[in-house]
Amino acid sequence: DIAMEAEEHIFRSKHPSVPVPESLTLPGFVLAGAEKYADKVALVEAGGDSGGKTLTYGEVARDTRRFAWALQSFGLRKGHVVVVALPNLAIYPVVALGIMAAGGVFSGVNPLATPAEIRKQVEDSEAKLIVADASTYHKVKDLGIPIIYIGEEKLISGGISWDELLEASDKAGRTTAMEEKDQKLEQSDVCALPYSSGTTGTSKGVMLTHRNLIANLCSSLFSVPPEMVGQVTILGLMPFFHIYGITGICCAALRNKGRVVVLRRFELRGFLQALIHHEITFAPIVPPIMLAMVKSPIVDEFDLGGLKLQSVMTAAAPLAPELRAAFEEKFPGVEVQEAYGLTEHSCITLSHCDPSRKGHRNAKKHSVGFILPNIEVKFIDPESGHSFSKNTPGELCVRSECVMQGYFKNKEETNRTVDQDGWLHTGDIGYIDDDGDVFIVDRIKELIKYKGFQVAPAELEAILLAHPSVVDAAVFALADEEAGEIPAACVVKKSGVNETEEDIMRFIASNVASYKKIRVLRFLNSIPKSPSGKILRRVLKDSFNYTQQQ
Ligand code: AMP
Repeated sequence: DIAMEAEEHIFRSKHPSVPVPESLTLPGFVLAGAEKYADKVALVEAGGDSGGKTLTYGEVARDTRRFAWALQSFGLRKGHVVVVALPNLAIYPVVALGIMAAGGVFSGVNPLATPAEIRKQVEDSEAKLIVADASTYHKVKDLGIPIIYIGEEKLISGGISWDELLEASDKAGRTTAMEEKDQKLEQSDVCALPYSSGTTGTSKGVMLTHRNLIANLCSSLFSVPPEMVGQVTILGLMPFFHIYGITGICCAALRNKGRVVVLRRFELRGFLQALIHHEITFAPIVPPIMLAMVKSPIVDEFDLGGLKLQSVMTAAAPLAPELRAAFEEKFPGVEVQEAYGLTEHSCITLSHCDPSRKGHRNAKKHSVGFILPNIEVKFIDPESGHSFSKNTPGELCVRSECVMQGYFKNKEETNRTVDQDGWLHTGDIGYIDDDGDVFIVDRIKELIKYKGFQVAPAELEAILLAHPSVVDAAVFALADEEAGEIPAACVVKKSGVNETEEDIMRFIASNVASYKKIRVLRFLNSIPKSPSGKILRRVLKDSFNYTQQQ
């Protein structure tokens, strides 16, 4: 077999590898040294209804421990899954770390998901408990598992209040310190189960261990010099249920004893106010937010002279060169970095240098960055598996200690995604140049990214097919300036029925979270498919773009 005999082209970081501690759990790693920063603000909510709630490092460490104890007293055992249905709140990382410290598995769900979508995740993950607040309680109250309720109101029937839970656990007292070692937690234990559709099909639980996440943090934080510890104020706007928010922002910031300014939702005025008022120095965002910062006249209402922002990072979706250029013109002096990552790799994989790496060579503009230390990549022909040398685009494969253990209860998809040699096949097409800069040029997996949010075509197709007037359906991505991509569909109607395209779009909209809505829909006589029955999404996409231009 030629592919087997061919020489493998494996690329590694130019930076020496970094050590990954052996004995800590993720909460232990993230909160190490918290006592020294006990009075420093770790998390602060920017404005909004709950306005300005803050947690210091002392409080984060204490309440993480109290919550872990409470969960154990409540009967949580190692490996039990807890679904967290919360918006971005200051307490969110405490909830996630507390679950992990108790030996549980944190599974965040989008707070904007519909009750049916949340139910699916709760059932698939076999969750034992769910954490909710006033904004999500009504969606989870009938799921049949205990609910821990975060909020002021104590009147929610059937919910266990967070405050009461922690107080009861305090009163019960700890006769023996329920430290991590007593629990016999291992780094190889699964501690997080975020949901991702991966390269094909619907959402699946991604099994990540303490080791996976610690390894990712060690790689991504490698370049932060000791004098930067405690100095960074970071924007906490990316959703905390997503790996970008919980690992890339919360855990990274808490590990380095920065201050996270927590925002519940994106609204341009509140966002700019938060940047200025809280003196944010580092803002991880997604391209649609950068677009708003560049295009909206609202920005001109603000005195940008008050900005302390040193750098923004965009990730989760491609950044258009024109957008980047427009941003640099409007916000001179703010460094733009890109990063690339995926849930199945515990978060960041490729990145530009850290804000602190002044003086080091930055990755090139328009590249997604360098290979981080401890991480190997190759670019393969997806058909033959043959790896390419530099400057030749192929499917990006990644190998490191950050690669997931697999999809929960789904061996088949796991084996399709992580091969026998430990390579994670990302479904993205890219190449590496002579200087070690990596460029992502295309995506071959089905996944649609609307404003950075995952939309799985298979999930929308299943809902379409459940409609009595629909015979066949295909969902695919169309390029969109504002959202990056929008979900589009082609539908084959039963003959004789008189639903319009708008009717079908409204039907989908009433069944899914709003970011998954189908925004363009067209009736066709048949769906183009390969001989093996696979939908030819690319053909649909191209034909759409073609007729759009006519
Ligand atoms: P998720 O698991 O939701 O983080 O989605 C991961 C996917 O988002 C990747 O496999 C890519 O398709 C896409 N992605 C993430 N970062 C970038 C980037 N910087 N440029 C282009 N695509 C990206």
